[in-house]
Parts: sequence; C-alpha cells; structure tokens
Amino acid sequence: MNKIPLLKAMKHDQWVKPFLKRYKWTLVLAISLGIITFICAGGLMFTAGFLISKSATMPFNILLVYVPIVLTRAFGIFRPVTNYFERLASHNWVFKMTSAFRKKLYDSLEQDAVFFNSKYRIGDILGLLSEDVAHIQNLYLRTIFPMLVAFGLYAIIVIAMGILSPLMGLLMLVLFGLIIIAIPVWSVLVNGARQQLEKQYTNTLYADLTDNIMGITDWELAGRSDEYLTHHRHSEKHLLASQQAKKKFEHLRDFVLQVMILLVVISLVIWGASYFGGHWGGSANWIAAFVLCVFPLDEVLSSLPTAAQQTNVYTDSLNRLNKLPQPAKEETKPVELAAPYTIKAENLQYRYPGTEKLILRGLDLEIKPGEKLAILGRSGAGKSTFASLIRGDRQPTAGKITLNGVATDEFGDGIAKYIGVVHQSPYLFNTTVLNNVRLGNEDATEDQVWSVLERVGLAAMVKSLPKGLDTMVGEAGLRFSGGERHRLSLARILLKDAPIVLLDEPTVGLDPITEQQVITTFMDQLKDKTLIWITHHLQGIEMMDQVVFIEDGQIAMQGSPAELQATNKHYRMLKQADEGN
Ligand code: ATP
Ligand code: MG
Repeated sequence: MNKIPLLKAMKHDQWVKPFLKRYKWTLVLAISLGIITFICAGGLMFTAGFLISKSATMPFNILLVYVPIVLTRAFGIFRPVTNYFERLASHNWVFKMTSAFRKKLYDSLEQDAVFFNSKYRIGDILGLLSEDVAHIQNLYLRTIFPMLVAFGLYAIIVIAMGILSPLMGLLMLVLFGLIIIAIPVWSVLVNGARQQLEKQYTNTLYADLTDNIMGITDWELAGRSDEYLTHHRHSEKHLLASQQAKKKFEHLRDFVLQVMILLVVISLVIWGASYFGGHWGGSANWIAAFVLCVFPLDEVLSSLPTAAQQTNVYTDSLNRLNKLPQPAKEETKPVELAAPYTIKAENLQYRYPGTEKLILRGLDLEIKPGEKLAILGRSGAGKSTFASLIRGDRQPTAGKITLNGVATDEFGDGIAKYIGVVHQSPYLFNTTVLNNVRLGNEDATEDQVWSVLERVGLAAMVKSLPKGLDTMVGEAGLRFSGGERHRLSLARILLKDAPIVLLDEPTVGLDPITEQQVITTFMDQLKDKTLIWITHHLQGIEMMDQVVFIEDGQIAMQGSPAELQATNKHYRMLKQADEGN
C-alpha cells in the first residue's frame, strides 16, 4: 500500500487528519446523510421496480399495491431532501475546515516570515498555497467523502444480502470489493505513475523550450535549427504517448467497472429467480426490485476510480503543506510585567531549523534596566539572530533568553508592549503620514503624533506638506529619505513608549552626517529607556554604557567604551579604522 503516494503522504500528515477529528460530528452527519441519500435512491428504485412488475400482473385491488405506492412516494421525496441536506452538511464542514486550515496556514507563515522571505517570493508562496488549500478541499469533497459513503453502502449491501443469502453476501463482498477497492487502487498505481512521468516530461519540455527560444538565434547561426526541432518533436512525442496511454487505460478501466456492475446485476437476476420461485407473478416481483436497486449505486461507484486517481495531484499539495513549519500549538496569553526590566541570556544557543550550523553557541549576557548596550560583530556573526531571540520571534535551541524571568517567546505579539524595534529599512505604508506614525499606537491623538514628530525632528517637514498629517506617503512628491524614514520609525517607537528599544543597524545606508544626526536624535530621545543597538560602525559608541562583540556565536569582548579603549587593542584598532572611513 506504500506505493500509493497519498497514503504515504498521509502517514505523517498534520494537515488533513487533525481536521477530520476536529469537526468529527459534522463529518459523521455529512457521511450519514450521504449514505441515506443512496439508500433512498436505492429504495426508490426497489419499490418502483416492485410496483411496476406487481402492477403488470394487474392486481384486482389497488390496495394490494398501496404500500409500495406510499414507499415510492416517500423515497422519492426523501432522496432529494437528504441529498440537499447532505450537500449543506458536507459544504458546511468543508468551509469550517478550510477556514481553520487557512488560519493555520497564515499562522505558520507568520511565525516564520523570515524563513519564507529568504527562500521564496511571498507572492509566489501565497499563490501556491491558496491553490494547495483548494486541492485539499477537493480531496475531501471529491475523494474522501465519496469513498466513505461508498464504504458505508458497501457494508450495508454485504450485510443485508448476507442475511438473505450467505452465498450472495459473499459474492457481493467480492464484486463490490473489486469495484470499490481494487479498481481505484489499480487506477492510482498505473495512471498515477503515468501522471508523475508526464509532469517530468512537461517540466523538461518547458525548460528546454524557454531555453531554446532564448537561444534561437544561436541555433540558427550554428545552422542547426532542424536538429533542435527534431529534438523538440521527439520529447513532445513522449508526452503525447503517455497521455494516450492514460486515456486508453481509463477506457479499459471504465469498461471493467461496467462489466463488474453487469455481473452484479446478472447475479441478482439469477439469484432472485431461484430465491423467489422462478416464475412470473407473485414473489417474482422482487427480482426487478433488487436489480433496479443497483443502478443508483452506479453513480457513486463509477466516480471512485477517477477520484482516487486525482489524489496524485493532491499529494503534492499535501506534501508541500506538511513541509511548512507547524504553528505554535497554544495561543499566547498576555504576560504582565512591572518595571524595571532586565533581559538575561543564559547559555543561549540557536540553530536555524533545517540547518546544521549553531549560530549562537552559549551566549551569556545581562542587559540591566536603562542600560545602553551596543552589539558589534562581523556580518553573519548572528547579531540579527540574537535580536530576533530577544524579541521572542524565535525559540532558543538550548539555553534561555528571558525578560524579567519570563522566556521572551512566551509573549507572542504582546512583546511589542515591552520591546520596540527599528530595522535597517523601516517600511512606510501607502497611507497617510498620520497612519504611518500611528502604527506605533492606534489610539494616539493628533497632538501626541505632532509631539513625537517634533521630538524626532520631522514636525517642520510634515507641516510643510500640502495636507499635513493627511498627506499620502508616496503622493505629491512625498518621498521620505533614508534618514527621514528612520526618524519616522523612531516616532512610532516613541508613540508606543516601550521601555526597551532594539535598533538593528538603524543607520545603514545613511551618509555620515545624516547618520550622526539620526544617532544623536535616537540617543537623546531614548535616554530613559533600555537601548540595544546593533551596529557595524563605532561612530557614537562613546554614548553607550556597554559594548559587546559577538564572534563565533559567543561574546568575545565586553566592557564599557572607556574600559575597552584603555585595555583592548583590538577595539582601539577597530575604532581607528572606523574613524578613518
Ligand atoms: P549582518 O551584520 O550582516 O546583519 P548578522 O550578524 O545580523 O549579520 P544574522 O542575520 O544573525 O547575522 O545571521 C547569522 C547567520 O545565520 C548567517 O550565517 C546567516 O546566513 C544565518 N541565517 C540567518 N537567517 C537565517 C535563516 N532564516 N535560515 C538559515 N540561516 C540563517
Ligand atoms: Mg543583521
């Protein structure tokens, strides 16, 4: 069975199985209604068959066929009604499930946005994934539901026939078993492999084609365009052959399926004839009833192999989804802390999931309330990684990072209340200046916004804009320069008023004069707060209380700027080099 890709994919699946469990009762209802619909359809044919053949014997009183008349009506009404409710229940279930599904997907994307950003273009991944969700939805609606309904009916038929006649029960077990299990499995194995192959062919075909179209002049110049065409036709032929083989198989399979159903019908006729007396009239009316009952089943059964085969398409989606990181299980509840705030890293270790290298290898550091700390280190040393651990965006591989004794990854979004961050390139949204500043605190009044703009030295610039705070960013020639963006980002932080501020290379890309101005503003405005400043430059470092160097995932040097200046040759050299720039 491990040959069936879907089953293999579902073994460690975290995306389909949990949702089957979560909305168990709606699922049971949908499947039961599905089974009842077909029982009604079968019942309708059964009573109708009985009614027709009984009536053909011209009973002397209509009351003799009264019961089948009523039953025919009842089944006739119940069939569409249950069918309608089955649709309601199953779609309700699927919508519930996909909405939970999408939430899980976005949680998973959100928690590791950094990872996705580095590996994929975000638009691509969202497009891909929304398609995957649609695939999984179809997997339920077109494959899993009909399969479960078919299994339910299978059990009922075998048991019911088995009670009437054990031999017929056995025959039904075999024949329907072939129809419901063997043919779909056969279909998946044979055509599944073909689909896989076709995908490969198509991929190489596309790759070759684009490559060669780009280089078409070179083929021509080399005088070898015919050779290329032959090559291309050859690969196309492979694809076509595989598609034809697939179609041929489908015809054969559908034929075998219909033959099976025919066998069921014939065996019912023969059995009915011997069981109910073998002569027309009287109990022979049951023959038509039993036989006609088979036909509505054809509707569920004949779609099964195609549905099963379709699962190969869904398997890729399932695998892709299962490769995503699992979102954290529990919702984080707000953690309430009181000042003063101390950050402590103890033997902090971190390795990016799926990589070998330990980026942080036992880092110990205490950041005291109100301290101004500079973190230095060469590119790739793990400074930004450390920053994301401080903010609780990542979970330590080993060791601890805590804020007042609480692990930072327990805060969730609530960490923003305590730690504000300014990045290398603060993002400005395509909305008004006011909204861009208010990102820090939605409830801030316009006065408060003006006051922080004043503090970061942007008030005059914003006042000069045609619509002031209501000017759209990016409109009316409003392009914030690098320095202004950083100031605006600082304004957000000040509005939020978090006690700890983390600056991750906030001045990269600024010219030295602007850089100096931005740093001075930052230091001025943040003097009451704990400040963690990640930087490459040593410009302005004297204003800090403590300087640490991260090297090889550990702290290599540590001390106040004055201490390091006096005792550390390496530091002096770096400072000299930086000033020389
Ligand atoms: P820079 O000064 O250039 O900003 P940094 O000190 O901030 O460098 P980090 O961004 O923390 O360095 O990266 C440290 C190491 O971790 C690098 O080797 C980087 O390749 C690796 N790394 C960073 N992000 C990821 C990620 N999402 N997955 C795997 N490895 C990563
Ligand atoms: Mg960095």
